Amino acid sequence: MSDFKGIVLTNTLIHDHDVLMNVLTPFGKISMKAKGVLKTHSKNRNYTEVGCYSLFHTIDKNTSKIVLLKNAEMVKRFLNIEHDLIRKSIYSCFLEIMNKTDICFEDALQYIEILDSCANPYCIYALLLCEVLRSSGVSIVVDACVLCSSEKGLCALSIPDGGFVCVHCFDQTRHYHLSVDELKNLRYAAHASLENYQALEAASTLSFQSVSYLVELLHRYGEITLRSHAFLEVLQPLA
Ligand SMILES: [Zn+2]
Repeated sequence: MSDFKGIVLTNTLIHDHDVLMNVLTPFGKISMKAKGVLKTHSKNRNYTEVGCYSLFHTIDKNTSKIVLLKNAEMVKRFLNIEHDLIRKSIYSCFLEIMNKTDICFEDALQYIEILDSCANPYCIYALLLCEVLRSSGVSIVVDACVLCSSEKGLCALSIPDGGFVCVHCFDQTRHYHLSVDELKNLRYAAHASLENYQALEAASTLSFQSVSYLVELLHRYGEITLRSHAFLEVLQPLA
């Protein structure tokens, strides 16, 4: 395995001009060392930065778990992500999630392609968060009250209880009161999958606030804290 495609998830400085990358590839995650890429004349620099989708030619060293980069070339640029600050920040969250979970290359690429081309980037972000929650064995209760199982009068989300609550169980000190639309958005996202993404986007109005609830659930139940999400919050007044 000396040539392969991959997405750079992390990039850590190890010596003056060298970096160690974690790259998501069709064969899983690979640690790759790139020597001299931070020198100004390096031809590989532009293809080894975080978020790049590149073709890597490497030097196989059977004795080491770390592969050594020979050179790299671009496979594809995601221009809408590059040029839109909101999409770019969501992309940072995607890469952080992909680094911290076991997502496969094909799915990861599909999420990124959709983030680049969709109309509402918060919608694909919500779907990825729901998928990560599902794959960590967490199912948010969105079809009935998580406390009394009533299907009627749902009006709020409880992070500590992991689902929707009804008017009778609602406690304003513990639960987020949500609008009917917001409840609908989260329910759709919780039931959606990549295959029916278009239907989710058409039927929902997922927003920064919606994904923030999911980030909070992921933090609590999936034990994943998304540092990049904080930057997205900073951008909100400008949006
Ligand atoms: Zn209830």
